[in-house]
Amino acid sequence: MTPLRVVAVASEIYPIIKTGGLADVVGALPIALHACGIETRTLVPGYPDVLAALPAAEVLLEWAHLHGGPVRLLGGSHAGLDLLVLDAPHLFARPGNPYAGPDGRDWPDNGVRFAALSRMAAEIGRGAVRSFVPDIVHAHDWQAGLAPAYLHYAGGPRPCTVMTVHNMAFQGKFPPEMLDAFGLPSRSFTIHGVEYYGMVGFLKAGLQFADRITTVSPTYAVEIQQDEGGMGLGGLLRERSKVLSGILNGIDSSVWNPQTDPHIAARFSASELQSRAANKAALQRRLGLEASPDALLLGVISRLSWQKGLDLLLENVSAIVNQGMQLALLGSGDPDLERGYQAAAKANPGRMAVVIGYDEALAHLIQAGSDALVVPSRFEPCGLTQLCALRYGAVPIVSGVGGLADTVIDVAEADMAGGAPTGFRFAPVTVESLAGALRRAAGFFPDKQAWRRLQLNGMSTDVSWRDRAGQYAALYRDAVASRQNQS
Ligand code: ADP
Repeated sequence: MTPLRVVAVASEIYPIIKTGGLADVVGALPIALHACGIETRTLVPGYPDVLAALPAAEVLLEWAHLHGGPVRLLGGSHAGLDLLVLDAPHLFARPGNPYAGPDGRDWPDNGVRFAALSRMAAEIGRGAVRSFVPDIVHAHDWQAGLAPAYLHYAGGPRPCTVMTVHNMAFQGKFPPEMLDAFGLPSRSFTIHGVEYYGMVGFLKAGLQFADRITTVSPTYAVEIQQDEGGMGLGGLLRERSKVLSGILNGIDSSVWNPQTDPHIAARFSASELQSRAANKAALQRRLGLEASPDALLLGVISRLSWQKGLDLLLENVSAIVNQGMQLALLGSGDPDLERGYQAAAKANPGRMAVVIGYDEALAHLIQAGSDALVVPSRFEPCGLTQLCALRYGAVPIVSGVGGLADTVIDVAEADMAGGAPTGFRFAPVTVESLAGALRRAAGFFPDKQAWRRLQLNGMSTDVSWRDRAGQYAALYRDAVASRQNQS
């Protein structure tokens, strides 16, 4: 089979710059796709961390002016990833994370910053880099959403376009006066173009014009076609349902491998599950929890936001502690939730520990040392932490939404269907229903054999990228073939 060439476009990429699961996916998928005969170059903004990761980058293009200043397109590789970097100091040479300054506030020119990224993607799609003319431009999330629109309005030959939604809650909406600054023609500002409730909608544009739309789990693909899950875009997605599909995310099984993990106290595999005890003890020590092998230790690794349902868990703290369980939470985000968890930890010393912040190494130890990982999301496009938990023998306790519903098999459901249970799922997403799942887990835990079976079922679940990359490869090939048939 001839290798297909893909330019992926995204605002973050692991291991260089990450605020969430998007970076994990964008960093892992190209490597898995390579095994399927797909060559990927990933276009990312030239943030300081990205430029520092590519000291020997080659200059591929130089433009005197793009959206307010001179830009260069650089090419280079890092950690097995082939990167294209939009070096635009006026847009990206700034401290902070990809979207906000050190004070946590979004940059006021985020529209222009990511329009420039999308514009460069479109130009590469139209052949600007002679040595790599792609068959596909694959846009990830709203920051890349204008790429299919630029290609549409440019006319002429173009590659296929794929738009992947990692989270419908982030849509990229900007005032209509910006249309000109984005370099979009005035005719684009209609409901069949980039207009979205009176604004310029970046994600909307991508969903309107991409040849194929994917999202990160089959259940989320259904949920986003409904009014609530679609968050304003449900109608458009229903219209485009024939080209919409859900492909589950995988995890990078070399980064998340309990047999080789450098961040944990004792490495282990399914046949040495007893070694997890040393990780549990290390986690309890590290976080100041009582050294209690028999207390069911719940872990959480999460952004603290309404989406993640962690207010529901906070309401359950007394019940958790009263039932003899422990809770270890790592996360940051909503100041009210941060304060709430810190206060709860103070009130329950030795039973509950909270670390506010982002800590990759601690995330690994929580996966290796907790007995169960709680993910009570109100909506969850795919979710990665429950996948890591499955691989690390931490039994997931999850709400039955999106990718959580697709990846965790509840004990009761498995009994009925005769499948292999891997965790506990609850619905609806309420304080009471979460309380019920926690009670069920607490009741199950003392039966060491039954718990071990859950862990082993989880550890033998395929959470790798291999098959999922194969699904992307098939989608790319199908999209290219359909376009060729049309022309
Ligand atoms: P989302 O992208 O919505 O935040 P995901 O579950 O898809 O949620 O991905 C979150 C990723 O970020 C996972 O790799 C998880 O381990 C990591 N993560 C989240 N919060 C933290 C944190 N405070 N410290 C370290 N890693 C974190």
